[in-house]
Amino acid sequence: MPRNAIDITTDGHVHTRLCHHARGEMEEYVQAAVAAGLKKIIFLEHYETGIDYFEATWLTEADFVYYHGEGRRLAEKYQGIIEIGTGVEVGANPEHLPEAVDFLGKFNWERIGLSYHYLKTDEGYVNMVSRRPASIALMERIGVENVAAAYFDGLKKALAVLPSDVVCHLDAVMRHCPTFSFSENDFARTVEILALMREKDVALEVNTSGFALRGEPFPSLRLLKEAQRLGVRLVAGSDAHRPEDVGRYFDQLAELVG
Ligand SMILES: [Zn+2]
Ligand SMILES: [Zn+2]
Repeated sequence: MPRNAIDITTDGHVHTRLCHHARGEMEEYVQAAVAAGLKKIIFLEHYETGIDYFEATWLTEADFVYYHGEGRRLAEKYQGIIEIGTGVEVGANPEHLPEAVDFLGKFNWERIGLSYHYLKTDEGYVNMVSRRPASIALMERIGVENVAAAYFDGLKKALAVLPSDVVCHLDAVMRHCPTFSFSENDFARTVEILALMREKDVALEVNTSGFALRGEPFPSLRLLKEAQRLGVRLVAGSDAHRPEDVGRYFDQLAELVG
């Protein structure tokens, strides 16, 4: 496969009920992937550290022990039908990066995806990808431009320290915030991150959850073209939080960036 083509037979980003904001057992996602004709599915469950928030949207270390065990059981059960891997979507927390490095070293991961969800503010942590009105109001009080700057800055710091294989939903920051629009400044900062990724051979996720929300993936087609121009590898992920979303919109990816 050419370096900048995309493999649409693998869904590399799938959640499960274990993160408390998705539904369905791991096996239900596997069955959905088989039904969708995929060759491989990689679970990419949420890990966060040092976040003080009213709800936990991530797994505990004990949850991850169960998760890996169940992943191994399913890989064996479905051998010859579909490949199954257990990875992690690690949320950047710029003040707690060494803790995350320690945690990642405790398990074998099929894939480590890097995201940045929770930003520390004077009013506590805010989830930058949340659709909650209270989160959006808080980001607007801080200033959406300031949140964007902090997002790119924190992501860059995390990328330098965390052993990542792929960066997830790169431009999904404030995706539900109507007063935020991706500026030329944000574009330039994102291209800087892409260049760093190319240097470290970290892949870029083409996250198809964007299709349902805005008719194109995360990141935008413009950024995907830029990533391809730089020689950044692309991998596909549905970010499914329901079994029926496994492999969603993958048929459109081949024509988009194939
Ligand atoms: Zn999630
Ligand atoms: Zn995410």
